[in-house]
Amino acid sequence: MDNLLMEIIERNRNLVRNGKVADYIPALGKANPEDIGVCVADLEGNIYKAGKYNKKFTIQSISKVIGLMLALIDNGQDRVFEKVGYEGTDEPFNTLYKLDLPHVFKPANPMINSGAIITTSLVKGNGEEKFERILALIRKIADNPSIDYNHEVYMSEKSTGHKNRAMGYMMKSMGLINGDVESILDCYFKQCSIEVDAVDLSKIGAFIANNCKGLDAYGKIDREKLTSILVGIMSTCGMYNFSSRYAVEVGIPSKSGVGGGIMGVVKSKMGIGVYGPALDENGNSSVGYGIMKDLSRELKLNLF
Ligand code: GLU
Repeated sequence: MDNLLMEIIERNRNLVRNGKVADYIPALGKANPEDIGVCVADLEGNIYKAGKYNKKFTIQSISKVIGLMLALIDNGQDRVFEKVGYEGTDEPFNTLYKLDLPHVFKPANPMINSGAIITTSLVKGNGEEKFERILALIRKIADNPSIDYNHEVYMSEKSTGHKNRAMGYMMKSMGLINGDVESILDCYFKQCSIEVDAVDLSKIGAFIANNCKGLDAYGKIDREKLTSILVGIMSTCGMYNFSSRYAVEVGIPSKSGVGGGIMGVVKSKMGIGVYGPALDENGNSSVGYGIMKDLSRELKLNLF
């Protein structure tokens, strides 16, 4: 399997040229587009990996899945989806303009920035505690207590995230956010700056693929329901504006981030983590997409 993963990396390496490393958050611009890694974690505990699977990068939007998970654990489905929708969107991930339309009362879904700021606001805890709970959950489900956030990326996000700040205040004015907007945004910037590698992502994917087993410390949870919401939202909204085409071409519920990561969930089978920081025009890893497509075909993982 490790050989197959290496072969798939090499087959897709030229896709680096179709992408560009994100630099709208200045600290992200330092990534090397040639660093490509992949890891598969199956539910029997086997780990298969190739390339730069231990290269650290920031989780970015993939943290939105964990933010949603914890918001659902803390509040239940009804309360979360009172404030954020289930709809796909053809707007960019950082759009705020639809929030100002008279018939729109909430962000389209929890995978765009506005929706993720809502789920972060719903995570229980004051100030730093909110972030500590998100970090603790990521450490737990990735089975890696050494995971932490990258201070430089966090500061870079915080000092340039004016549009996210605008969204936060707009949603406060709409009555969607309770609490202090700055401290919620601070938590959002920090959660995006958490550093992982492809192995961590594959283990997070495997955790979800295993019906989120192991959350006993969080009280009584309907794990089947939690998992189906996460996987459903990833399939419809996880790959930015490319989500529908990705569902057809790859058919693996996935979430990508502008740090270059993709996390895939194959229910009852495996989690997949891919890294390749050059992004295509949709904001997805250009090599990562190629790798996921090949993995899906070779291992017959397409859900549809
Ligand atoms: N921290 C990023 C932002 O809000 C997340 C973007 C992403 O990965 O899509 O701009």
